[in-house]
Amino acid sequence: MNPVHPAPAQGMAAGGRTRSVPAALLMFAVYAAVMAAYFGYTAPVRVPAEYAGTAADPAVYMTPGQLESIESMRPWLRWFYFVIPAFQWLVLWLLLAGGAAVRWRKALERARLPLAVRYPVFVFFVWSVSSLAVLPLRFASYRVSYAHGVATQSAPGWLRDWAVSFLLDYVTVLAAVGAAQWLMSRGGKWKLKLWLLSVPFIAFYMYIQPVFISPLFTDIRPMSDERLERSILELARRADIRADRVFEAEMSSKTNAVNAEIRGLGSTLRIVVWDTALESLGEEELLQVLAHEIGHYVKRHLEWAAAGYMLWSLVLIAAVGGLYERLAARRGTRWGIRRASDMTGVPLIMLLVSLALFICQPVANAISRESEKAADLYALELTGNAEAEIAFIRKSAASALSDPYPPLLSRLYNTHPSDLERIAMALRFAEERLGKDLPGEERIGEERRGE
Ligand SMILES: [Zn+2]
Repeated sequence: MNPVHPAPAQGMAAGGRTRSVPAALLMFAVYAAVMAAYFGYTAPVRVPAEYAGTAADPAVYMTPGQLESIESMRPWLRWFYFVIPAFQWLVLWLLLAGGAAVRWRKALERARLPLAVRYPVFVFFVWSVSSLAVLPLRFASYRVSYAHGVATQSAPGWLRDWAVSFLLDYVTVLAAVGAAQWLMSRGGKWKLKLWLLSVPFIAFYMYIQPVFISPLFTDIRPMSDERLERSILELARRADIRADRVFEAEMSSKTNAVNAEIRGLGSTLRIVVWDTALESLGEEELLQVLAHEIGHYVKRHLEWAAAGYMLWSLVLIAAVGGLYERLAARRGTRWGIRRASDMTGVPLIMLLVSLALFICQPVANAISRESEKAADLYALELTGNAEAEIAFIRKSAASALSDPYPPLLSRLYNTHPSDLERIAMALRFAEERLGKDLPGEERIGEERRGE
């Protein structure tokens, strides 16, 4: 179809299309430039004045080289983090407003395939184009982190993991969007029915993910160091957690970050320690990490999170579903969306859902940061070892080259409090509850291990 002389009978207002495409490109360019300016401006590692020289000050526990690495790597990673989703929205928008979505739908209809084939093929087109478009940016982000030694995974390994999640996410997107549009086509209270369908899925994912999905990406085996395993199980027992084995996850081929996880419920309960943590942490620090994870478990953060997701999906389906129906009814014809359940609307649904999730992320992350603080406090109370807590945070910050106090926008999108805030909390705990004043100049982790 010639965009200069549109055929109004087809319901495609090409005039709106030719205006909206450059407008979207311009908006994206301005957004990317503003983000670059913001993260460029906030690149230097800054610490609030009251923490200068305390144990929470990175100048006390990081080398000048590490601080320099943070300043050259983190701004880029932050820029990618904020620009990659926006670029994906742009691509979805271009598929819709540029007319590709309606052309694909018509081509599939001409091929006279049954809907059960056309629909998954159409969603696969949309998913592939929007995922492949951002792949170079994702890869660049991984390479930046690789260049600084934080990501350790080889490029083929990284691409393999990307391909696995590309396919798994395709299945998820197909199931979710397919269920939504199928319910729309049947009319009635489709949003409520969709939410009822989502509830078992959320429960299912939280329950089976640690046992069945994680092993697709990670090699997990029973822990080899039996003495250390006994200390871990002893700590777990003090918190009334019945586990008889500890597992170690082979993560060192992917990252330098250290972590441990307690996941699953009942018979799927698993204590998993990353091998990176076994290599780089002393025993007291490792137990401190586990005490933090035990805190999450004992305080039932996972179950609360599952309940939160269910409530959140109700709000999301109601708000985004309503907005999509209104857009499809009022402006659908200009994009070739004949009715809400038309597959041509898939890019619009994906765009609205992704946008809503991203905009609301700071709320979810503020809740997550509160639960992290609660787990830190639980760990301090369980072990009474503020030195180990500080030593662990310092070590993991140094190995992951994390900014101790990132710029505000990044702090809003962080699932954990900043390292500076976490160390400050351990210092307060030591002072108020243990009557200890921990000096800043001392390299706590190193010294204690030497004793
Ligand atoms: Zn945590």
